[in-house]
Parts: sequence; structure tokens; C-alpha cells
Amino acid sequence: MDFELTSEHKALQATLREFVRRSIAPVAREWERSGRYPTEIVDEMKTMGLFGMLVPEEHGGIGVDAVSYAIVFEEISRGWMGIAGILGSHSLSTLLLARYGTEAQKRRWLPDLASGARRSGIALTEPGAGSDLQGIATVARRDGDAYIVRGTKVWITNARHADPLPVLVKTDPAAQPRHRGMSILMVEASTPGYSVGRDMGKLGYKGTESCELTFDDARVPADALLGGVEGSGLQQALSVLEFGRINIGARAVGVAQAALDRSVEYAKQRHAFGKPIGEFQAIQLKLADMATEVQAARLLVWWAAARADGGQRADAETGMAKLFASEIAIRSALAAMRIHGGYGYSTEFDIERLYRDAPLMAIGEGTNDILRTIIARDLLRE
Ligand SMILES: Cc1cc2nc3c(=O)[nH]c(=O)nc-3n(C[C@H](O)[C@H](O)[C@H](O)COP(=O)(O)OP(=O)(O)OC[C@H]3O[C@@H](n4cnc5c(N)ncnc54)[C@H](O)[C@@H]3O)c2cc1C
Repeated sequence: MDFELTSEHKALQATLREFVRRSIAPVAREWERSGRYPTEIVDEMKTMGLFGMLVPEEHGGIGVDAVSYAIVFEEISRGWMGIAGILGSHSLSTLLLARYGTEAQKRRWLPDLASGARRSGIALTEPGAGSDLQGIATVARRDGDAYIVRGTKVWITNARHADPLPVLVKTDPAAQPRHRGMSILMVEASTPGYSVGRDMGKLGYKGTESCELTFDDARVPADALLGGVEGSGLQQALSVLEFGRINIGARAVGVAQAALDRSVEYAKQRHAFGKPIGEFQAIQLKLADMATEVQAARLLVWWAAARADGGQRADAETGMAKLFASEIAIRSALAAMRIHGGYGYSTEFDIERLYRDAPLMAIGEGTNDILRTIIARDLLRE
């Protein structure tokens, strides 16, 4: 058992740290406030190959292991979690194609998705169904060589830049059990009848858009059916969400670590009653708890990532990592706000952004209560 990163992992971590220091940290506060799209950062991530993290080398990607994947998301989120969102659902879309796409689909889309020339996201959630994905109402009816798609999706991150976008639909709305009638269609941006509507207003997670989508009898070619078979869509989506929890857990560790970094710095320089506040035991206790919890969350994420690399299903492991790390991110951001006093509440410091960003990780890719049910199911089965 070795709790240290390999030399390759350390080198990747150092590269990401330098990228964040140089290109993300200096602009994060201002760009997040103004809502400016981080085009220059996206361009640099393309050059670094980050859009191809989960694309096999034979299709133009760099096919990293899950621990490396976690390192990338932690380091970027330490600078600005919203940037990690640009890579998150894109990488899951590429994983869907790599795992389940037909050879023709892989050849058609993966090389451009790996380079970032084309980008993607993942469209599951609807106005009436999020946790209960089998309750979606978007229907794709077969008509000759196409599917006619009708329905609405909400909260779809990266939607304005996604082409193609995997969309979960019902190809057989009457099927029982319901998941047997669910499929994924790879929808291209130019599809007639498909449109990206309003941006959802958000507390945090700025820098990337989350949008409403409308399918108004959109005509999607039948060869865009993922894997070429109907009825596997829910299982395909759940399998990549399981892996995706590594990225959400790692983002949470990055946010929690950023809250700790800022707090340690502040505790040394802020004076009250004639001494640095770091000399008060009340502040020390908070810092010690934060540091302990952040490190525990990080090790849990790396452990879950290592299990996922082992090739076996790791629902409970990635669920535990995401559940624990996201709760720690929320606690650390709040502790940092307390340590910073009034300045923690100020838009001129980073703490309020960390505080706004942290709760998303408790909601996305399975709410924490849904994950608790998955973990419990696993325990009871054993
Ligand atoms: C900023 C942002 C970005 C997002 N990006 C995407 C994206 O790119 N693609 C995408 O498809 N979706 C995206 N989502 C949607 C997200 O995945 C859903 O919000 C999430 O899955 C929860 O679904 P819901 O909002 O419908 O809540 P609901 O499912 O309605 O849940 C409401 C509450 O009920 C609880 N609950 C529901 N069922 C159970 C149960 N069986 N047992 C116990 N508790 C239960 C939940 O835990 C929660 O507390 C995004 C959301 C946000 C906020």
C-alpha cells in the first residue's frame, strides 16, 4: 500500500499547478464576476490535450488513468471550479463514445472531441426528472432513417458549445421496466428542430453555461443512436456517471483546499488584539479540522479512482468519495468565511466564490442523498 503519487502523477500535478498559477488564478475573480467566457483558458486546455483525457490514443486522445483524471480536476478547481465544468461533462461524453460507440461513431467524433476542435456535454436532466431519470419525457420516435425527437432538457452544461451532444431519450415510452425503452442519441448542433434556449441563472459555477434545450420534432439521423442499439441508454449513462463522480469529488477537494490555502495565509497576516489571528486557538482548531478533512477527502477520491482503474464497477467507492468530498467542500468554504470575518463576505476576496461553488458538488452527478442510497444498497447486498 502506497499513499504517494507516482512520479508521473507528480509531474502532471506540477504541470497543472503551473497552468492554474499562470492562466486561471489571475483572472478567475474578475471573469467569474463579469460572466465572461474563458476562451483563452479553453484554448490552452486544448493545447494541453485535456479534452482528450478519456479518449484512447488510437482515436487521438491521451487516455489517462482515473487518478490522473482526479488530479486534473482537483488542481483546476483549486483555481476556479467553473473551468473544471468545461472539461467535466465533455470528458463523460467522450467516455460514452469510447465505451459504447460503434466503430463508425468513434471514428467520426472522437478525434475532434479529443483535440477540443469539437466539444460536448451530456443531456440527461429534464424539468420533471433529475434523480429519477427513468421518468424523463423526451421521446424519440423512429421515422425511416431518422428519429423524431420531442421534449425539453434543463441544466445542460456546455450546451452552447456541444456538438455532438449525447441526449437521453425514450425510444419506447411504453417499455417495462422503463429503462429498457431508453436510448442515447448523439445530437449534432445543426439538427433541424433542436435549439439551445435560455441560460439557467446560477448561484455559482460561472464560466460555463448551463442551458435549457428544446427538441421540437428534431430530426436526428438513426446512425446517431449510441452503439446502434436501442434500450441501453440508461445503463450507458449510469456507467459514465459512476466514473464522473471521481471528477466531482476531485473538484470538491480542489475547492476545499483553496479555502484552506486562503485561510492559512489570512490567519498569518490578519491581526486582532495585537497579534495574528492564527495565534488564537479558535482559529487553529478550524484550520486543523479543515486540513484533516481535506486530506481525508483527497485520499478517498484517489482510492475510488484507483478502484475504478482496476476495471471493476466502483459505484459505492466513487459515491463515497463524491459524497464525503462535497460535504467537506461546503464545510471548508464556510469555515474559511468565518476565519476571514467580514472580508470572507466581500466580493474582493475569493472566499465568497468558493462558498457559492461548493454546494453544486453535493447536487450534480447524483445528489448526496441518492448516493447514500447507492452506498447502502451495496452494503446490504454484501
Ligand atoms: C449548475 C448545474 C449544472 C448541471 N449540469 C447538468 C448537465 O450538464 N447535464 C445534466 O443532465 N444535468 C445537469 N444538472 C442537473 C443535475 O444533475 C440535477 O439537478 C440532479 O441530478 C438532481 O436532480 P433534480 O434537480 O431534478 O432534483 P430531484 O431529483 O427533484 O431531487 C430533489 C430532492 O429530492 C431528493 N430525492 C429524489 N429522489 C430521492 C430518493 N429516491 N431518495 C432520497 N431522496 C431523493 C434529492 O436528493 C433532492 O434532495 C445540473 C445541475 C446544476 C444545478
